[in-house]
Amino acid sequence: MTASGYVGRFAPSPTGALHAGSLVAALASWLDARAHGGRWLVRIEDVDTPRCVPGAAERILAQLEACAMRPDEAPVWQSTRGDHYQAALDRLLASGNAYPCACSRQDIARTQAERGIDRQRNAALPYPGTCRHGLHGRPARAWRLDTGRDPSPVRWTDRAAGPQSQAVEQEVGDFVLRRADGLWAYQLAVVVDDAAQGVTHVVRGLDLLDNTPRQIVLQRALGLPTPGYLHTPLVLAEGGEKLSKQNGATPFDERRPAPALREAAARLGLPDSTSGDDPAALLARWIEPWRKAWIAPFTIAR
Ligand code: GLU
Repeated sequence: MTASGYVGRFAPSPTGALHAGSLVAALASWLDARAHGGRWLVRIEDVDTPRCVPGAAERILAQLEACAMRPDEAPVWQSTRGDHYQAALDRLLASGNAYPCACSRQDIARTQAERGIDRQRNAALPYPGTCRHGLHGRPARAWRLDTGRDPSPVRWTDRAAGPQSQAVEQEVGDFVLRRADGLWAYQLAVVVDDAAQGVTHVVRGLDLLDNTPRQIVLQRALGLPTPGYLHTPLVLAEGGEKLSKQNGATPFDERRPAPALREAAARLGLPDSTSGDDPAALLARWIEPWRKAWIAPFTIAR
């Protein structure tokens, strides 16, 4: 713990090496931690094993090292933390906040169709709650959070995006904690680990903004603190969607980190530090501009 008490983290999924988009999230979380005089941790989010690419986590860690972004503790790997996720699920079951679900995708689609809801128009329809009140003899496939236990809208303030509100029960529904294939869901793993690592500030890409209310609901159900949140702008691909490996993002070359770091800093609106290619020196020069652009305005406003 530092004097500031700030603990931040970068939590990449090892589905590929870091590219221009994911480096922005890494840099933003690093700068925010350092600007607050805080600690910065790295967590490898390798729970969705079918999506993980062998060697990607090691490459990400090498890329961070090449950029002189060094975590204050050894990185945590989610694949080693199944017991903790199980313990959290057991607590949620014991407190009546979670329940087993026997529904297949087809079952859910059928129930939605019976209720006149066309799944084609909106692929992310809320789960209709079929198993909330029991399995009726059917075998459990997945486990879900009962979002009806705390039905009032989740209100929270993102440091940059401002006040947010989501009625999780209506807009998302009872989301999955453990999947039918036995894998742990991102929402549960992230909430358990942010709390276990003492994370006080989450800084990540804007694509995760609408996951935050689900995470807050889970934190409340588990009696865990809610960190502060800052969601930073995404780097977009040519088609306007988030830049990702799928739409052509290429990994940055860790043998020449300075150009990639400069590009990431520019995306965050930080001034170009014209001379020098030493990553540690570049990072150090961006801490004050980060404070001016991403901390001071929001501190004064709220
Ligand atoms: N592992 C997630 C991703 O790479 C990020 C999780 C988070 O920052 O909460 O998209």
